[in-house]
Amino acid sequence: MTGMILAGGRGTRMGRVDKGLQPFRGGPLAAHVLQRLAPQVADVAINANRNHAAYASIAVAANSDAPVWQDDLQGFEGPLAGLQTGLRRCETDWLLTVPCDSPFVPDDLASRLAEALLRDDADLAVAVTMDADESGDAYRRVHPVFALMKKSVLPKLDAYMESGGRRMDGWYGAIKVTEVLFQDAGAFRNINTLTDLKDMEKLSEPAATGFDRKASLSAAEAQRIIRDAITPVTAVEKVALRQALERVLASDIISPIDVPAHDNSAMDGYAFSSADLLADGPTTLRVAATVLAGRPSGVHIPAGQCARIMTGGVMPDGLDTVLPQELAAAISADSVTIAPRSITPGANRRFKGEDLASGKPALHEGKIVTPADLGLLASLGLAEVPVRRRLRVAFFSTGDELRSIGETLEPGCIYDSNRYTLYGMLTRLGCDVIDMGAVRDDPAALEEALRTACTSADAVITSGGVSAGAADYIKSIMAELGDVGFWNLDMRPGRPMAFGRIASEGRQSWLFGLPGNPVAAMVAFYFFVRPGLMKMMGTTASHFTVRARSAVALRKKPGRTEYQRGIIYIAPNGEREVRITGSQGSGILRSMSEANCMVILPHEQGDVAAGELVEVVMFEGLI
Ligand code: AMP
Ligand code: MG
Repeated sequence: MTGMILAGGRGTRMGRVDKGLQPFRGGPLAAHVLQRLAPQVADVAINANRNHAAYASIAVAANSDAPVWQDDLQGFEGPLAGLQTGLRRCETDWLLTVPCDSPFVPDDLASRLAEALLRDDADLAVAVTMDADESGDAYRRVHPVFALMKKSVLPKLDAYMESGGRRMDGWYGAIKVTEVLFQDAGAFRNINTLTDLKDMEKLSEPAATGFDRKASLSAAEAQRIIRDAITPVTAVEKVALRQALERVLASDIISPIDVPAHDNSAMDGYAFSSADLLADGPTTLRVAATVLAGRPSGVHIPAGQCARIMTGGVMPDGLDTVLPQELAAAISADSVTIAPRSITPGANRRFKGEDLASGKPALHEGKIVTPADLGLLASLGLAEVPVRRRLRVAFFSTGDELRSIGETLEPGCIYDSNRYTLYGMLTRLGCDVIDMGAVRDDPAALEEALRTACTSADAVITSGGVSAGAADYIKSIMAELGDVGFWNLDMRPGRPMAFGRIASEGRQSWLFGLPGNPVAAMVAFYFFVRPGLMKMMGTTASHFTVRARSAVALRKKPGRTEYQRGIIYIAPNGEREVRITGSQGSGILRSMSEANCMVILPHEQGDVAAGELVEVVMFEGLI
């Protein structure tokens, strides 16, 4: 396919300057697009209506032989005129368009659109993202300038344009269109004004980041943004059965055998055919054979007789019921007597395949392997299990006041505790951790730490420096290295938080910037980082919540989510009750240590009266 950069606009909203040539992070905007587009396509072209030479030199600088095509239609007729020109000139069967003002074009744009075009046998595949309107409701947003189409649609486009149509998607009714949903709406952002450009350049203002459209976000919105942005790691490894404990299954496990392999007895007793039971009196059956567990049955029991059978013993053909030996009315050396109505026909017989049927999924992809699963996999005879690779997570603390264990604590300094809580939480989550220490509030040191972390880990977690503090340089450095949103969450504790993607030396990593206060950092980890990492691990985060009566009245302002540390217990009346642990200050780690749960007071909730039911998340399973 040919990838064409649409740079032919008049740029009316940019003071009539040529958008594609605007300097952005060290190069013209169009060069960023070219750099992302070129590896995805066979040929690249630039559609521009002025500054021909400047666009040609962008191509040269990028070592690309991309031609610059001017619209066949004169007079800045809009992107559709560029599209028409591209379809006429391109030498491939397919044409992909991207605008010159979208420096974050996704790397998989071409491949995903192509896949949909083929799969749906469509004429055109267009990117869509989920977006939120002013009131926060989600809607599908179509991006008609990010589209892959067949060259054969040209006559339809010509006809639409001849009739005066100029809307990028105005002609979709005449062709077969398929939509492809991309998770990362931020990748489709475009720069429309010089202010956009400046903001985007800095990326330090909330509005300039793709992940952050509002200055303040609710906890639920932030969780959704993180969930939608992150995709699971793809690498899979086969591990020995025991090593699979707590790992994430990378595929469904299809049972290769029936478990159990035969109908068998659930009890020690006597196997017989229920057809032999007398309706109105005791039934005495001769014991014709004994069946032990672990031997093929092979015996034939004639009508009116039975088999002595042990638990797990294979049911002889034709027999359907097992009388537990303790229910027998009488037992002699070679017979057993069954009282009327003492046993239900079919009782105590386990069916072949009733636990796991051959060819059916025994466990599903994405499940975290539990002790029960290990046993189940063993019962299938499986020695190896496919699991997703472990995540590598790097973390460091920021702040001049932080000292590490072993260092002297000068006046005004504190020991760094966040690295230890993070170590504990990440280790329990099954991640490989890279502890990068405490980093000074110094731009060069912070940049170095972020770059190193980014090249070595799937995710980077920092603590401190994301609030509005004067010595907090980390925000601007994070913004320089990538596409990061700085959030003011409507929650307590843990208001400030950063989330996004950073890149260095061609490696990308997810970034979570946590607040510095120890409790806030932990809460932000549990409710934002953990679900994100679990999605990356290929599974879904869940936590164990219960409802309990609040022992005391709680003050709570509507309009923010509060996470209070609590102790849950059974009250003398037998009901579950929860009380809040002492001070709820976000720096008081002892409140976390003493607590066994967190009380979640949702966004809209106001004050809670004593005795009212509240939602409680148990620490067990969370940490
Ligand atoms: P910051 O978010 O950097 O403004 O930090 C907020 C508060 O948390 C300050 O009182 C810091 O001293 C404290 N803090 C930051 N990082 C850590 C850490 N790693 N361990 C303990 N306290 C910290
Ligand atoms: Mg700090």
